[in-house]
Amino acid sequence: MTHPSTAPAPSDAGVLSPAAVDAPADARQPSGWLDWVLTTDSKQRLRITRSLMSSLVFVICVGLIVYCSVIGLMVPREGAALATLIFVSCTGFYVAMRSGWNQRFADPSLTLPQIVAALTWICGAYAITNEGHGGTLILFALVLVFGIFNMNAQRARISTVYAVVAMGATMAYKGWSDPGHYPVKIEWMYFVFVATVMPMISQLAAQLNRMRERLKAQKRELEKALEQIQEMAIRDELTGLVNRRHITEVLGEHAARSKRGVVKFWVALIDLDHFKRVNDTWGHPVGDEVLRGFAQMAKEVLRETDVIGRWGGEEFLVVMLVVPPNDPVAGLERLRVRLADAQISESVPELRVRFSAGLAAFGPGDSIEHAVDRADKALYQAKAQGRNCTVVSPDEPAGA
Ligand code: GH3
Ligand code: MG
Ligand code: MG
Repeated sequence: MTHPSTAPAPSDAGVLSPAAVDAPADARQPSGWLDWVLTTDSKQRLRITRSLMSSLVFVICVGLIVYCSVIGLMVPREGAALATLIFVSCTGFYVAMRSGWNQRFADPSLTLPQIVAALTWICGAYAITNEGHGGTLILFALVLVFGIFNMNAQRARISTVYAVVAMGATMAYKGWSDPGHYPVKIEWMYFVFVATVMPMISQLAAQLNRMRERLKAQKRELEKALEQIQEMAIRDELTGLVNRRHITEVLGEHAARSKRGVVKFWVALIDLDHFKRVNDTWGHPVGDEVLRGFAQMAKEVLRETDVIGRWGGEEFLVVMLVVPPNDPVAGLERLRVRLADAQISESVPELRVRFSAGLAAFGPGDSIEHAVDRADKALYQAKAQGRNCTVVSPDEPAGA
């Protein structure tokens, strides 16, 4: 039987990949060096990839540190210290994720810690780049821009407050300790820049987050509606069994497998005996009650691998897998025995249900129409033999 599929739930967001949508988690055996570096768990893999991508920006920073040291814009010792800290931090985040330690947190992507660390290292770069320090502010804004797609309003606020306070403190300290390279007049200007641009980015992040939440809620509703529609498309409303269209699909799937020699199965057509009398004697609602009661009992009694659907009116079709020593006739007789004493209608407790059934084996060279036709003929014979019995089609299935 086919089931409506559900889309994988979107996961938490990472730092550097705005468009990324998490794939469902799966864990397979590592098969190459990339699997060892990134793990085989698809969610973790995505987080680690994002983190390594943000580390790439730091690799460029370290390159610039080397350049600044060479052209004398920076004291090499300070540059080396900062480069070491950056390296340790990136490695730390990688190890935290590769080991799975990150998964104990509400945000396993460690978005906020990674942003706070990045802001801190850029404050450090600001403090040691002397005349060139103004340029680092671009990177400072860039960190929040990266986070804009992934942060919720609270994380965006925390990052902004941290950015303004940390950079403000760095500027104040440098303006006081090294006014030659960090003139207070210029530092004020830079601070105003930081104190206005950062909250704006944070505001955008909050807006985007609200939009994302709205879209997620709509997506969930649509998924639910789609599931309901798919369910309605395959169900018979009265009995709750699958409908004729779906049982025909099931027949098709089984037929395809049978042609490949994977399964052997039988087709059973069941028709309630003298059902018209039920309607005529007790009314249509009681007839409906009987159809529902029969369907319920059939589901209980037949095996899980048997699929029963409403073929139409008071006729049902069962697709029965043949796994020896299971005998399809025995399955139907079990249902007959259970029905013999069962109270099916609450309003007419004395009402008993009988049925006739025709069974036909499906052969590898068969068509669905042909097999159903043989089952139908067998059913006709069961009716002719006095009803309340099962007849197996004597016709050989095609290709058997
Ligand atoms: P037989 O033993 O030869 O099968 O006789 P029967 O009375 O069961 O067969 P017949 O084909 O004469 O009557 C079937 C009846 O089933 C006629 C129809 O009104 C009734 N029926 C079909 N669908 C429904 C339904 O959804 N609800 C109810 N209550 N009756 C239905
Ligand atoms: Mg009928
Ligand atoms: Mg009937």
